[in-house]
Amino acid sequence: MILIDGKKVAAELRAELKEEVAELKSKHNKVPGLTVILIGDLTPSQIYVRNKEKSANEVGLKSEVIQYPDSVEEKTVLEKIQELNSDETVSGILVQLPLPNHIDKQKVIEAIDPSKDVDGFHPMNVGNLSSGYESSIPCTPLGCYLLIKKFEPNLSGKKAVVVGRSNLNGKPMTQLLLKENCTVTITHSKTKDLKAECLEADIIVAAVGIPELVRGDWVKKDAIVIDVGINKTDKGIVGDVHFDEVSKNAKALTPVPGGVGPMTIACLLKNTIDCFKRSQI
Ligand code: NAD
Repeated sequence: MILIDGKKVAAELRAELKEEVAELKSKHNKVPGLTVILIGDLTPSQIYVRNKEKSANEVGLKSEVIQYPDSVEEKTVLEKIQELNSDETVSGILVQLPLPNHIDKQKVIEAIDPSKDVDGFHPMNVGNLSSGYESSIPCTPLGCYLLIKKFEPNLSGKKAVVVGRSNLNGKPMTQLLLKENCTVTITHSKTKDLKAECLEADIIVAAVGIPELVRGDWVKKDAIVIDVGINKTDKGIVGDVHFDEVSKNAKALTPVPGGVGPMTIACLLKNTIDCFKRSQI
């Protein structure tokens, strides 16, 4: 079994992005800018945002975090987004989720100019991705896609099973695999026989949020298995895939941690740079 080392691939991607930012700087005399809006004091969100800011600075992006208390009014956030939409120094805008209950998540997502939507959640980007047009692609599935492609460049005709149908992971992952000419099955909590579906797969992407759901005897020999899950358990952080069992069957598998996670932030930086490049045309 080959361990797909997301940490290493993400470090390589960040190094490439750093070079690209330097080139863009010498060509345009400015660098791409990422602005993150953080609302409230949820510890995981604060940690994610801090990591995003650190990585952005490392590759040479201009990065800014705007912080609001939990009690901030929706109107204030929407007005700030409008201001950032028309700020030429801001290439990408990200509003860290989850939001407090009194703020309408969809309204916030739709307020972001689609050309600055580095999360790829705006309906315009979702539509463009599903139509096969250029778009911002949600960072985690983009990271999974890059890991799969690195390991197996030609995916045409492969049978892929995506476990989970969230807007964040499962659905965009399905679109990316379809674009590569995979035959894709998307499974979810109402799927009748998940094991039987997984056993058909050359590629499994598990994005569920249930610790070690995918077992060793669900995976055929030579499958590529990508584990998106991050689950806190008594024995520490585990994925949605039973690592020890699946590693005995799979051809390749991502670990948790050190697999998909590091790719997510690297892809956020990539999306910011791509938004900047599109804005310069
Ligand atoms: P979600 O809760 O939005 O969606 C979960 C999906 O799993 C749903 O579509 C649901 O239908 C499906 N599901 C639930 N029970 C199922 C079952 N028994 N069998 C099959 N499908 C089932 O979750 P999400 O936001 O997509 O996140 C999934 C996991 O990925 C979580 O563990 C989350 O922490 C992790 N995650 C990791 C990263 C990363 O960077 N590595 C990023 C985002 C999310």
